[in-house]
This record gives sequence, C-alpha cells and structure tokens, in this order.
Amino acid sequence: MHWRGRMFSRIALLLLLTVAGVGTAGDAASAAQDEPADSLAAYAARIVGDRARTRIVLEFDRRPEIAVRYIGKPDRIVVDLPSTVFTFPEADLEARGLFRDIRYGSMDAGSARLVLTADRPARLVASEVMANENGEGYRLVLDAEMVSQQDFEKLVNEQSWMTASVDDASASLRGGRVAAVERATTGAFVIAIDAGHGGIDAGATGAATKTQEKEITLAFAKALAERLKGEPGIEAFLVREGDEFLSLAERVTIARQRGANLLISFHADTLRQNNIRGATVYTISDKASDRMAADLAERENLSDAVGGVSYSSEPAEVSDILLDLTRRETQAFSISMADSVVKSFEGQVALINNPHRYAGFRVLQAHDVPSILLELGFLSNKEDEKQLLDPAWRVKIAELLAAAIKRYRLPVVANGG
Ligand code: ZN
Repeated sequence: MHWRGRMFSRIALLLLLTVAGVGTAGDAASAAQDEPADSLAAYAARIVGDRARTRIVLEFDRRPEIAVRYIGKPDRIVVDLPSTVFTFPEADLEARGLFRDIRYGSMDAGSARLVLTADRPARLVASEVMANENGEGYRLVLDAEMVSQQDFEKLVNEQSWMTASVDDASASLRGGRVAAVERATTGAFVIAIDAGHGGIDAGATGAATKTQEKEITLAFAKALAERLKGEPGIEAFLVREGDEFLSLAERVTIARQRGANLLISFHADTLRQNNIRGATVYTISDKASDRMAADLAERENLSDAVGGVSYSSEPAEVSDILLDLTRRETQAFSISMADSVVKSFEGQVALINNPHRYAGFRVLQAHDVPSILLELGFLSNKEDEKQLLDPAWRVKIAELLAAAIKRYRLPVVANGG
C-alpha cells in the first residue's frame, strides 16, 4: 500500500544503466536519491460513500493522464497513471464502500497504478480530471456505482482487446529492457535471483518494525548477487532491480530470456501463528505438500491481482510429451537444489519442520528452468524479523546459498545440463 518515493530515481537510473549495459544494482543504490522532475505528486486523497456508491478523490500537483480498465477474477477497476509519488497518509485512502482493497504504487519507471478491488461488482460512472478552483493542482474524481455481475462481465469483455494491448505494451517495454541486456557468456551457469514482490505489491509487513517484505527480499537478492560476483563459471543477475512491480509471469519470462539455469525467489511472509519461525524451501507441485504450503502459494499468487494484471491473454497450457519430459527433468533438478539448500542451512540457520515443501507457486512454473522459492523466515515472528533485518545474517545466508549452489551445480554439469 505504500510507495517509497526515493526508490523511483534508482529504478529510472537502473533502467538507463541497464539499457546501456553497464549497470549493477550496487552502482544504482549508491546513486542520486532525488526524485526526477517528471514524477507527479499525489498529495491528498479521500474516499466517501457506501456499498451502493463510492467516490474517490485524489489531488495531484499536475494534470495526470489516466486510463481506466476493468479486470475480472477478482473484479477490479484499474486506473493507470503516469509515474506518481503518493505522499498522502495511507489512512486517507483505506478501502470502504464498494471496495474491499485499494492499492496504489509504482509499476515501472514511467507509470503508476491505482487498483480498486470491488467487494461487489462496480463501474465508474465518472472519472474526471479537473483543475482546482484556487488554481493549485488538479483533482481526479472517480465515482463508482454498483452494477450486476453480468454488467461487470460485459464491461470486462467489451474492452478486453484494450486490456490485452495495454498489458502487451507494458510487457514489451520490460521485454525490451531484457532484450537490451547482453546474454551471459556461453558456458556460464546463469542464476536468476528474484526478489519477491515490489512496487505496488509490498508483500508482508514486519510484526515489530513494519518493514515491508519487498525491501527485505531485494536486500537478500542483492547480497546473493554480490556474493556470487566473480565466482568462476557463474553469472548471477537480479530479476527485479528496484522498487518496481513485475507480474509472476514476467519474472519467469525474464529468467528464461536470459537463459537462466536456476531461479531462486526470495520471500519472507507472515503466518497467523506468530510463534512459528525458521526457513522453508519450496519447489513447484500441482498438489501441495501440506495446508501451510497451499495457503502460502495461494497468497503469493495473489501478487498479480494486487498489481492489476489480467490473464485474458495468457496462452492455454500446451500438452506436449517433450514439454512433459523437460518439466519432469526440471522438477528433479529443482528438488535436488532444494535439498542442497536444506543441507547448507542445517545446523546454521533455523529451519521449520520438514523444511522442503511444495505447492503451486506461479513464479516457479518455468518448465525448463529449475526453480526454488526460499522463505527465509517469517515476518510475523519477532526473532525471525530481527534476523531478516540483520546485515550480518544476510551475508551468512548469501554464503550458505553460494555453497548450496556450488554443490548443486556439480551433478548438473556432470549430466550435461
Ligand atoms: Zn512473499
């Protein structure tokens, strides 16, 4: 729900550096902290209304160009904005009336988004931008009214061609970023390091310090990339480089396009039982190993809903015997990597019972890239939270993971993978 304005310049800079082919996360993080002049500021917000009619007003310093879309499952109204820094208190735009969830934040360097998740189907009867009477700034007024489920679905279908083209446009923008980066030198073992969540999707929140999961995952991803730098035969890269939103499918695509041999996705979620602590390693499976794994995968897969991503243009699953074989082989490699991580962590890092679990995580679904999801600990547990924020513990984890990667890599290389 929260946007870190100062991250914006890092993302912008990263994009520039990445396109130029010279960037690293470390360089960007130490670079200028100022927000670029072209970002809009949304400095005030209010929401009024009931379950039949709800009005949202946002105050901007300059006129925003907006685009409205409707997405189903769950029913959402998505308002695309130019890059915007949201400076009003979160409490001013808390979900109410027709909406059960409201998120806003950055999508990438050039855009931001407001995602209104409907409690009951709703449509905008007005979405107007007008200059304030006192001549200071602009007001965006969104008036929503309840509609029948049928009418909402009609809205979604009528503009599906537009939805697809907008999603394609942003995907090709990011795809362009990926394509502009040179592939790793042939023969290197390529590792995609994925920092979970980002941008509009902040992930979980720490019980004691309120630190957001997206910041923690990025810090661990950078620590591992840093540790692997200069390791002979290994090329590691960050899937998410700053505070930007990437859909789960985009993360998989980025890993595949860069020829990754392994994907590691970092997370630090919360549980209702705040006494449970320790790390867990997940691999993909249609059937979850247990209830906790199933719940977690379900919550992680919600990331796309939070970011306002639709699946209307997602290709149907191809049934192909070769694909199946590849998938089975990839699955075996994923399991062997998970075992290697557990072995590295044993006696060094607190692990939950049965630390290797499995469930249907979307981010692990590349059929040809062995993938693991690492829950480093739980932000709902105060001891875990303390460790997750400790730079020394971060370095230790990076060290143990480097050892796990090297141990895993040996059989893979021997098998000609
Ligand atoms: Zn997470």
